[in-house]
Amino acid sequence: MANSTQEGKAKSEYWHAQDVDTVLTKLGADSLEGLKKATVDKLLEKHGRNELPQKKKESTFIRFIKHFHDVLIYVLLAAAVVTTILGHYTDTIVIILVAIINAAIGFVQEGKAEKALESIKGILSLKATVLRDGKREEIDATEVVLGDIVLLSAGDKVPADLRLFESDNLKIEESALTGESESSEKNTEPLEEDIDLGDRNNMAYTSTTVTNGTGKGVVTAIGKNTEIGKINQMMSDVTQLTTPLLRQTAQFGKTIALATLVLAAATFAYGYYLRDYDTEELLMSVIGLAVAAIPEGLPAILSIILAIGVQNLAKRNAIVRNLPSVETLGSVSVICSDKTGTLTRNEMTVKNLVLTDEQYEVTGIGYSPEEGEIQQNEKTVKVEEEDNLQELLRCIYICNEASLDQDKNGEWSIKGDPTEGALVTVYEKSGLEKEKPKRESTIPFDSDYKYMATLIEQDGEGVVYVKGAPDRLIEMANKQLGKDGEEIDMDASYWEKQVSALAKEGKRLIAAAYKKMPSSGSKIDHDEVEDGLVMIGLAGIIDPPRDEAIEAIKVCSDAGIRVKMITGDHVDTAKAIGKEMGIGDGEKACRGADLEKMNDEEMRNAVKEYDIFARTSPEHKLRLVEALQAEGRICAMTGDGVNDAPALKKADVGIAMGIKGTEVTKDASQMVLADDNFRTIVDAVEEGRRIYDNLKKTILFILPTNGAESLLIMASILFGYIMPMTPLQILWVNMVTSVTVSLALAFEDMEIGTMKRPPRKEKEPLLSGYFIWRILFVSVLIGGGTLYLVQHLSAQGVENGTIRTITMQTIVIAQLFHLFNCRSIHGTAFDSKFFTNKAIYIVAVILFVLQAAITYLPFMNEVFDTKPLALSFWQYPVYLGVVVFVIVEIEKWIVRKFVLSKKEEQTA
Ligand code: ATP
Repeated sequence: MANSTQEGKAKSEYWHAQDVDTVLTKLGADSLEGLKKATVDKLLEKHGRNELPQKKKESTFIRFIKHFHDVLIYVLLAAAVVTTILGHYTDTIVIILVAIINAAIGFVQEGKAEKALESIKGILSLKATVLRDGKREEIDATEVVLGDIVLLSAGDKVPADLRLFESDNLKIEESALTGESESSEKNTEPLEEDIDLGDRNNMAYTSTTVTNGTGKGVVTAIGKNTEIGKINQMMSDVTQLTTPLLRQTAQFGKTIALATLVLAAATFAYGYYLRDYDTEELLMSVIGLAVAAIPEGLPAILSIILAIGVQNLAKRNAIVRNLPSVETLGSVSVICSDKTGTLTRNEMTVKNLVLTDEQYEVTGIGYSPEEGEIQQNEKTVKVEEEDNLQELLRCIYICNEASLDQDKNGEWSIKGDPTEGALVTVYEKSGLEKEKPKRESTIPFDSDYKYMATLIEQDGEGVVYVKGAPDRLIEMANKQLGKDGEEIDMDASYWEKQVSALAKEGKRLIAAAYKKMPSSGSKIDHDEVEDGLVMIGLAGIIDPPRDEAIEAIKVCSDAGIRVKMITGDHVDTAKAIGKEMGIGDGEKACRGADLEKMNDEEMRNAVKEYDIFARTSPEHKLRLVEALQAEGRICAMTGDGVNDAPALKKADVGIAMGIKGTEVTKDASQMVLADDNFRTIVDAVEEGRRIYDNLKKTILFILPTNGAESLLIMASILFGYIMPMTPLQILWVNMVTSVTVSLALAFEDMEIGTMKRPPRKEKEPLLSGYFIWRILFVSVLIGGGTLYLVQHLSAQGVENGTIRTITMQTIVIAQLFHLFNCRSIHGTAFDSKFFTNKAIYIVAVILFVLQAAITYLPFMNEVFDTKPLALSFWQYPVYLGVVVFVIVEIEKWIVRKFVLSKKEEQTA
C-alpha cells in the first residue's frame, strides 16, 4: 500500500514545546493564508494521503474456506463421505460441487455486501475544514497535508495532529487516545518538553472530537505518524454483516441440520429393520433425505436481499451504515424529528424586527439582499436615521458566522447556518457598512446555551454582542435600549408579549442584546455574559414547512407510526408549525424545562401524551428515547449537533443529518440522510418494510421445497415405494429453485397497503405460527401431490428413471407456480402489481431452460440419471403446479376473510 509508506512527520519534534511562530516556520505554513495549491499537490505526492493503515484483511482463501464452516455444509460433506464409501463417485463429486458452489455464492455475496457498505462509507468520508490560498475550504480529511491550517469547531473530528495557534473556548474530548472522557480545555502557549500526551493542551490529535468552541491549528503529523497511528490503532471497522434475522435463520439452519440427522437415522433404522430395502439403496435414500431437508441457498439469498436493500436505500438518499438497521427500519413505531431543516425547509427569511417601541416589517423572500427592504407601515425606512434599529442590525451581523455569496448567474446563497444567513441578509438589505470590526473573542452558538456572543473593541472599550433564544436573553438582561439610545429598566412582559405574538405565527425568533465591558482584548466566558445584558430587540424569521414532509407525516399516521417533533425553538413556534404539518393538535406541547422536573414514570406518560417537545436541549433527547423504549416503542431519532450523539446511539435507529450534521453525529448514527429531509426517513421505513417482507416471502418460498422433498422420501421409505429422486436430483432441485428463482423475490415491489398496516412488533418471531402452518401446508401439498403422481405413474408401468425425472420437474414447476403465491404473503397474487416485477419472468425463463437442459442434454442425463421426457409427460407437473397455486390462493383468501379481518376488528 503506497499510502502507508508515507513519512508525514518531521522527525521527533516536540511541537508542543515550541512557540507557534517556530512551528509555522519549520512546517512552511502560513497561518493567515494557508498552503498554496501547488504546495499541497507536492506534499500529497511526497507523503501520501492522510490515512491510517487499514486493518489487515484475511486472505481471500481463508475467507472462502470459512464459508464451509456451516453445519448444513457439514451434513453435505458427511453425505459425500458415505457416497464415496459406497463407490457412488459421481454423487460424491456433485455433492462436493454443490458444497463448493454454495460456499462460492456465499463468498461472492459477502464480498458484494461488503462493497455496498464500503461504497456507502465512501460517501460518508470524514471532512476537514482547511485554509488554502487564503480561502476556507471543506476537503476530505485524507487530503490534509503537513503544514495545512485546520479550522476546528464543535462537532468536528480532528483530522490530523495539530499544533494549535488559536483557541476560543476550545474543548476537545480525547478518550480515543487517552481514555479520558472529560473534555480538555485547549490553549496555545508552549509547554514543557517531557509533558504527558494527555496534558499537551496546545495540541489536538487525530480522531479526538471537538466538543466546544472554535480553534485553528497547523498540521504536524498525518496518517500513521499521528499519535493514534503510532499506537497502532486501526481504522474502525463498522461493517457488520449479520442481522437479527440472519442470526435467526442461521439458528434455524442448525435446528434443521440436527432434525435431519435424527430423521435420517430413524428412517434408516425403519427401512433397515422393518422393510427389506437393500442397504446401499437405503443409505442413498437417507442421504437424499439429508440433502433434501437442507435449505442450502437460503442464507446467501437473505444476505443478497439485504445488500440490494442497502443500495436501494442509498438511491433514496438514506445511507445506512450497517445491515441490521435495514431490518430495524421496518419495525420503527416512533420517529422523533428535529424541526429546523428536517421538517422545515431551512430557507430562512427575517420578516419582522422589533425594538423597545418600534416595529418594522421586512420585504422579500430568500437570501437575496437586493430583493427586499425594511419598512414601517409599508413605507421604506431610512435606516441611517434610526440608531436603535442600526444597533439591532449591527448586533445580529457582528455576532454571526455566516456570509452571503453571489454566483455567476446572480443567485444568492449562504455559507454557514441558515438562521445566521437570514440575519446577514436583512443587514445587507439595510444598506449599512459591510466592514465587520475585528472579533476579540467568541462563544459559538450551542443548543445547550441557546445563544452566541462576540466581544469586539469599540471606542477603546469592549462590547459583547449577544444573540440567541429570546427567553434566554430576557432572563439575562436587566436593561433595554430605550428611545435616544438610553438604557432603561427591562420590561420582560413587553418582550414576552412580542415573542408570543410572532411565535404563534410559526416564526422563529432571535433576540439581540449587548453588554459593555470595562476593557477589551480578553476572552469572554458564559459567566460574564449571562447577566447584565441590555436588550436591543428581536428578529422574527419564517422557515416554511417542507410540503413533502407534510405528506410523509400523513403516510406515518396511516402506517401506525407516531411522529414527534423535538425542537430547540420556542413552544408557540413549535405548536404553530406542528399544527400546520399535522403533528400534535396545536394546543398541547411539552417544554424542556418541564421535562427536567419529571421522573422516569412521568417521562413515560409525557411521551404518550405529547407529540411536540419545545425548547429542549440535546440531553432531553436521550431521556425521551429511553422513555419511549421503556414503553416498548422502536424509536428513530434525528440529530445534528455534537451533543445529540448519545441519543442517536441509544435510539433503535439513530439518524444523522448529512448536510448540517456534525462528523460526531454521523459517527454515532446508524443512518445518514443525504438530504436532511424528513420525507427520506419515511421512505427508508417504507423500504425497510419492503425488504423485511421480501425476506419473509423468500423463506416462505424456499422452505416448502425442502419440506416437500423430505416428506416424499420419508413417505416412500415408509410405504416401500421406489425412491422418487436420487440425491443428485434433489440437490439440483434445491439449487435451481433457491438460488435462481427465489432471488426474484428480492426485486419484488412493495405490496399495496404496506404503509397502511401497523409496524411489525420487534419481538415477532421469524417463523410465526402462521408461517409454520403455511410451510407445512405447502410442503404437504407439493410432497403429497408428487407422491400420488409417483404412485399413479408407477401403476401405469412407467419406467423408474422417467418417473424420477417427472418427479423432479413436478417439484420445480410446482414451486414456480408457488412463487406467484409468495409474491404477497396474505394478499391475492392477481393485484395491479402482477407484471411489475420483471425479475420473476426472467427467472421463469431461465428455469425452463435449465429444466429442459437437465431433461434433454445427454451429458446431463448421464450425470443426473435423468431421462428425456415425451411431451405428454409435461402435463403432470403443470397440473400439480396449477392445483398448488389455486389451493394456496384459496387458503390466503380464507385467512384474509376470516382470520385477518377478525384480528383487525379486535385491534380497532
Ligand atoms: P431543531 O432542534 O428543530 O433543529 P432548532 O434548530 O431551532 O431546532 P436550536 O438550534 O437549539 O434548535 O435553536 C434553539 C433556539 O436558539 C432558536 O429558537 C433560536 O432562538 C436560537 N438560535 C438558533 N440558532 C442560533 C444562532 N446561530 N445564534 C443564536 N441563536 C440561535
